[in-house]
Amino acid sequence: MIRYIVSVVLLFSISTSIRAQNPDSVQLRKIFENAITNREAYHNLEFLCKQAPGRLLGSPNSYIAVDYMRDYAEQMGADTVFLQQYITPAWIHESSDAGIVYDDGSEYALTIDALGPSASTPKEGITAEVIELTQVEDIERLGREKIGGRIVFFNRPMKPTFINPFAAYGDAVDQRYWGPVKAAEYGAAGVIVRSMTYNLNDIPHTGSCAMRENRIPAVAVSTMDADYLSSELKKVPGLMLNINVQATDTALTTYNLIVDIRGKEKPEEIILVGGHIDAWFNTEGAHDDGAGCVQAMDVLRIFNELKIQNKRTIRAVMFMDEELYQSGGAAYAKYTKENGIDHLLAIESDAGAFMPIGITFSADPDFIAEMQQFKSLLEPYGGGFLKKGYGGVDINPLKEFGIPLAGLNTVRQRYYNYHHCMSDTFSEVSFRELQMGTTLLTGLIYLVDRHWESTDDN
Ligand SMILES: [Zn+2]
Repeated sequence: MIRYIVSVVLLFSISTSIRAQNPDSVQLRKIFENAITNREAYHNLEFLCKQAPGRLLGSPNSYIAVDYMRDYAEQMGADTVFLQQYITPAWIHESSDAGIVYDDGSEYALTIDALGPSASTPKEGITAEVIELTQVEDIERLGREKIGGRIVFFNRPMKPTFINPFAAYGDAVDQRYWGPVKAAEYGAAGVIVRSMTYNLNDIPHTGSCAMRENRIPAVAVSTMDADYLSSELKKVPGLMLNINVQATDTALTTYNLIVDIRGKEKPEEIILVGGHIDAWFNTEGAHDDGAGCVQAMDVLRIFNELKIQNKRTIRAVMFMDEELYQSGGAAYAKYTKENGIDHLLAIESDAGAFMPIGITFSADPDFIAEMQQFKSLLEPYGGGFLKKGYGGVDINPLKEFGIPLAGLNTVRQRYYNYHHCMSDTFSEVSFRELQMGTTLLTGLIYLVDRHWESTDDN
């Protein structure tokens, strides 16, 4: 068994000249200057957003996106460019609508998007009485008698009083993720859930739910229409809702894109940086997660252009299907196991192209303590903290192999303006913030590669 120890000589000794520069800080400065003056990643992001929006697993644009990034990797001068093929179930969204149906036959259209993988309805949709709830647990409490045959409306807003919006999302998203599963279990006709956002506007935010075998139609409604529906329910007892979702279940072949800059000393040891190439059907997927993909690729470009003599192989992975079934992450983990791939570290960028503020590590405390030695070097580039926390959805399956995982953290107060909705567009990405994220990723990878040593442990 191989074990890795960081041997860091970060504090340069005070020698002949007190102006002597730490070679690491000089290299990090070069990385930053390259990142902040090169617009290739930004251009790549524009392509993904404008030419391949809505690139959900199995969609034509998902293949266009992978092909484009593969072609870019080849012309950028990567050593290895590889499409990792796998077969997976997929859910192809076609259309979704919903509306209030009044007794006099009139209708009020609600602004909604289907959740994945919602069941399809008959062509005319399903129409049923609505019951408004705030907790998934209410389903069990009310039982089949109240839930059966009805459309369950989950309407608990994201709590604004969490400082960290990711925590507020975690606190509210059970309605979207588990709500439909529970509702289906108790015989509900469908589910409509308030969008996961702080904004009060007419834009629906979709997302995945955990329904697999026993599925019912499930949609997310804009916050404005959630409020409207709630107020109408108070006025009109027995209010009816129509939900119409058209989608197809299938199985298909798709790909993760794996791109390497070979290690000059220990090519068999891998440092992985990744993002997910897929995006929901209703969005350009700029922050989530076109940005992570173009950043990962840009890390390689920078190593290549600056001719950094990386000891280990630096690998960018563009994972397919983070959003629906997380099949790309699972397929990469399987590939890792079957091929005995030796990863030193895997980092994911999936927190939006906002200004970076630090890196979180899902790893043992000794490893994190060693990473913290890099803090003073990374701080100017957004590395304000290196601490325990989450890595990323796509790399998470690598945890079972004992691989240290890391996640890029950003200023996240605006994240849920964009998450899984039509507002997540290229025009909402700041070039400088995108490239600051790339600088931090590249800087960390450079330091890990340079300062790690391997020793035989057995
Ligand atoms: Zn994402």
